[in-house]
Amino acid sequence: MTCKPTQTPAADTFDIPTLREKYRAERDKRMRADREGQYRPTTDDTTHSYDVDPHMPVVARDPIVEELDVVVLGAGFAGLLAGYHLTRQGVTNFRNIDHGGDFGGVWYWNRYPGIQCDNDAYCYLPLLEETGFMPSKKFADGAEIQAYCRQIAESFGFADKALFHTLITSLKWDETIQRWRVGTSRGDELLARFVVMGCGVLNMPKLPGIAGINSFKGKIFHTARWDYDYSGGSYANPVLDKLADKRVAIIGTGATAIQAVPYLGRYAKQLYVIQRTPSTVDERPNPATDADWAASLQPGWQADRQANFHRAAMESFAPGEPDLICDIWTEIARNLSAELEAEGWPEMSIEQFMAKREVVDYRVMERLRARVDEMVEDKATAEALKPWYRFLCKRPLSSNEFYPTFNRPNVTLIDVADSKGLEKITEKGFVSGGVEYEVDCIIFASGFEVTSELKRRWGIDAVEGRDGLSIYDHWANGPRTLHGTMTHGFPNQFFIGYIQGGLNASVTEQFGRQAEHIAHIIHAVMDKGAKVVETTLQGQEDYVRHFEEMEIDMTAFQQECTPSYFTNEGQVKAPWALFRGYGPGWGAFQKLVQDWRAKGDLDGMELRS
Ligand code: NDP
Repeated sequence: MTCKPTQTPAADTFDIPTLREKYRAERDKRMRADREGQYRPTTDDTTHSYDVDPHMPVVARDPIVEELDVVVLGAGFAGLLAGYHLTRQGVTNFRNIDHGGDFGGVWYWNRYPGIQCDNDAYCYLPLLEETGFMPSKKFADGAEIQAYCRQIAESFGFADKALFHTLITSLKWDETIQRWRVGTSRGDELLARFVVMGCGVLNMPKLPGIAGINSFKGKIFHTARWDYDYSGGSYANPVLDKLADKRVAIIGTGATAIQAVPYLGRYAKQLYVIQRTPSTVDERPNPATDADWAASLQPGWQADRQANFHRAAMESFAPGEPDLICDIWTEIARNLSAELEAEGWPEMSIEQFMAKREVVDYRVMERLRARVDEMVEDKATAEALKPWYRFLCKRPLSSNEFYPTFNRPNVTLIDVADSKGLEKITEKGFVSGGVEYEVDCIIFASGFEVTSELKRRWGIDAVEGRDGLSIYDHWANGPRTLHGTMTHGFPNQFFIGYIQGGLNASVTEQFGRQAEHIAHIIHAVMDKGAKVVETTLQGQEDYVRHFEEMEIDMTAFQQECTPSYFTNEGQVKAPWALFRGYGPGWGAFQKLVQDWRAKGDLDGMELRS
C-alpha cells in the first residue's frame, strides 16, 4: 500500500516568526542553569534500592574463576549483537554479563503497563532474516521483544553462557598477563583477553533533583522497576486493581509516561500527571502483521527497510522513493518529498532545502497541536498539553489513549513548566504552585542517564587501562577514539554506543554495525596470533581530527530547542553530546570502516604478541 502525505495546515494559516518566538519563550521557561546537574542518581533515593530486581529472584551461585577470550558487558541489544557477530566470526569463548536476570537490557527491566516499542518493529528488532522471527504487529509489545532477545541468544548458541544478576564492578588491564581482570558483584574473578562494552544508552534510571525526595512516606518507584505487588496486576495482565483506592502521581510525560498514563488513569482513584514539557503525540495505528506481506518479502528486505527508515528520519528520501515505514517518524520526509515531486524536484542549495523542510516541520507541528484540541475536552488542559518546539527537539511519540485519559474525572494535569520542574516532595505528597497535593504513591517516569558523566552511566567503580589509567580521567572532556571503537591506553577494549561514529536512526542497526566491526577486529587479531591490539595515539588523533573536520554543527538547531537529553539539556558542546555523528552520514561512515577492514592491515592499530 502506498503511504500518502498527511494533510497539514497550509503555511499561510500561521506566522512562522511568531511561532519561532513562541518556541523560544517556551524553551527559556524550561532552561535550567544546572543542566545535567538537575538530575540525581538513583542512589539519592535512600528509601529503597534500585539494585533490587522486582521481576526475578536472585539465585545464589558460587563465584566463577576462569579465563575467557571475551567478556561482553551487557545482554541487551548491544550485548546480543556483540554475541551474534563474535559467534559468526568463530569466537565462541565469551560470556555476556548483565545486571538483569535475563537477556533484554532495557526490555528486561522496563515492564511498566503498556510498554511497547515506539519504532517500527520490522526495523527495530535486529536479525529478523537471520532468526526467521516476525513481530506480531508494527509496534511490538515489550514482552514480545524481551522474549525475542532470548531467542537471538538461543538461536546462535550463547544463551547458556551468560551470567545474569551480575554487575561488573571493576575492569583492570593487567599488562603482565595481557588480559583484563574482571571483578563482579558475585565475587567472580574473570580473566578476559578482550572486553566489549555493550552498556546501552538507557541502562541507568535517573531521578529528578526535587527537594524532599526522601521525605515522602508513601510508595515510590521508577517506571524501570515497576512494582506490580503494589499496583496490582502483572506484566502479562496489567489490571492495576490495587490502585482503586490510591492517589497516584506520575512525574514525566516522555515516551514511558505516555504509555503508562492510560493504565494509571483507568485504575487509580486519582491520578496527577506532572508535566514539565509536553510531548508530540500522534495517533498510533498498530495493525497486526499481514501474513501475505510477510510471505512476500525478499532476501535483504530488512536492510532495505532500515535504510529507508534512516533516510526518512535523518536524511531525506531520494526522488520517487516510497515511504515504507509510514508513521510519525517519517511524516516530514514523506510530505517534503511529495512537495518536491509536485515541483519537479528543482535544484536547490542545502540552505534552501533546510528552509523548505523547516516549513514542513511547522506544518506538521501545527497538525499535532490541533490534534490535542480535537481530543482533550478541557480547553486549559489541551493548551497545556501542546508541544511548542521543532519536531526532532524531543523524541516523537504516538498513542491513541494518552490524550483521552485527560477527559477522565479522576485525572489531573499538573503543569510545572513555570517552576522548571516539580517544586517539592513532602511527607504526604508534592507541592506545585504553592499547593500541597496528598498522594499515596509517586512514580518516576523521569528517564535515564543518557548524557551524564560516564561513571554514573556505566556504574563501574574502576575501569583502568595500561599503567592504571582510569577511563573516567582519560575521557573527562569527552571521548577520543579510532572509529568510535577503541581508545589509546586501553588495549583490547571495545565500545558500542553513541561515540564518534556514524549515527543511524535505529539504535539497533547502529549497535549491530559496531558489533560487526568489533568482532572483525577481534577475529583478525586472534587470526594473526597476536595477544594485544591497541589503537596508536597517531591513529586515534588522525581519526578524531577527521571526525571533527567533517562534523556538522548542530548547535544552531539545538539551541532553539526546549531542553532534553536530545540536546544535552541545552548545553552546547557537552562532553557526552548524544548526537555527534560522522558528518558525511551513516552510509559514508560504513564505507569508511568497510574500506578500512578490506585493507586488512588494521591501520592505526598496533598488535603485540
Ligand atoms: P524521558 O527522559 O524521555 O522523560 C523524562 C520525563 O521526566 C520528561 O517528561 C521530563 O520533563 C520529566 N522530568 C524530568 N525532571 C523533571 C522534574 N524535575 N519535574 C518534572 N518533570 C521532570 O524518559 P522516558 O523514560 O520517558 O524515555 C526515555 C527514552 O526511552 C525515550 O526517549 C526512548 O528513547 C526510550 N523509550 C523507548 C520506548 C520504545 O518503545 N522504543 C518506550 C519508552 C521509552 P522534560 O521533558 O521537561 O525534561
